[in-house]
Amino acid sequence: MTGCVALVVAAGRGTRMAGDRPKQYRPLAGRPLLRASLEVLRHHPRVTAVRAVIHPDDRALYDVAAEGLDLLPPVAGGATRQESVRLGLDSLAELAPELVLIHDAVRPCVPSTLIDAVLDGLAGADGAIPAMPVVDTLKRGENGRVAATVERAGLWRAQTPQGFRYEAIRAAHRAAAGAGLSDDAAVAERAGLAVALVPGAEHNIKITTDDDLRRAELFAAGETRVGTGFDVHRFGPGDHAWLCGVKVPHSHGLIGHSDADVALHAVTDAILGALAAGDIGLHFPPSDPLWAGAASRRFLEHAAGLVVARGGHIRHIDVTIICERPKIAPHRAAMVAKLSEILELSPERCSVKATTTEGLGFTGRAEGIAAQAVVTIQLPIVE
Ligand code: MG
Repeated sequence: MTGCVALVVAAGRGTRMAGDRPKQYRPLAGRPLLRASLEVLRHHPRVTAVRAVIHPDDRALYDVAAEGLDLLPPVAGGATRQESVRLGLDSLAELAPELVLIHDAVRPCVPSTLIDAVLDGLAGADGAIPAMPVVDTLKRGENGRVAATVERAGLWRAQTPQGFRYEAIRAAHRAAAGAGLSDDAAVAERAGLAVALVPGAEHNIKITTDDDLRRAELFAAGETRVGTGFDVHRFGPGDHAWLCGVKVPHSHGLIGHSDADVALHAVTDAILGALAAGDIGLHFPPSDPLWAGAASRRFLEHAAGLVVARGGHIRHIDVTIICERPKIAPHRAAMVAKLSEILELSPERCSVKATTTEGLGFTGRAEGIAAQAVVTIQLPIVE
């Protein structure tokens, strides 16, 4: 296999935090920490597959955290982090990926751009790790007193995900079994592998205490963005129109390069707008024969995937379909259900409305259908 598999290490017991469950299953912005880590890796375009390494006792918690995500089955970890990673690497032997990213589940705020930086760093090295320079003055303490000031020049704080060439890090882990090393870069170093430093992120917090969790909540809440979308398609010959992913019988069809689902196009553009990521024509050029007759849910899934890849989520969508005919009301529930399914968003967060223009204008003359949409998304703060 070529490509890159991400191992998410989630087998720890989290003894430093109180609570009824290990910290990787504690909620962050209403979702288990582990899910946030799994999602950002799973939706990263350069990551081929994701596998979690879990404690066997946590299977039920894992199943809830990973629900609906397309992941490799989890494997059981060992008594230490190092052993868990080794078992995870061994479990990938048949897949034999070219690259592997090893990530701690308790760093749920990892930005997608940091994952890119690590993978880029692997171009010229056996390994690459994100790290932050130490800026605080370092002291060595003894019995509550300062014993010495430690030179901080050249010191870095290592984060995850750490990226490696799979065969090299697997061999290094096998050779280092039982050595009690605290990260994979140390395992690589012991084997003489070249490991590059790439820029980490201050908010790629490792959650080890309740205080860390509170700080991560601030980052996870992120910023709220609103996007709008608008689209029009002309009526032509046909006996149905696709609207919000639902096939609606009608005396005419809608003309377009794809299935001409004007409502899904408006929602897709609203999501792209909230991301400041251009418009639907930029991502799916009408000149490209690949999209001839395409189901518009593919466009919407692509836009929603971009939100998740940025570590964000869609909070709410509101679409208005503007036409005299066909009547939308009989299909509204099916349209809400379809949006809910495509966007993996609860139906209470998917609004479909319809209006006429009182016989005025091109919609009034039944020349076509217009749709407009508003979407609210939440994005992590990356600055
Ligand atoms: Mg369109």
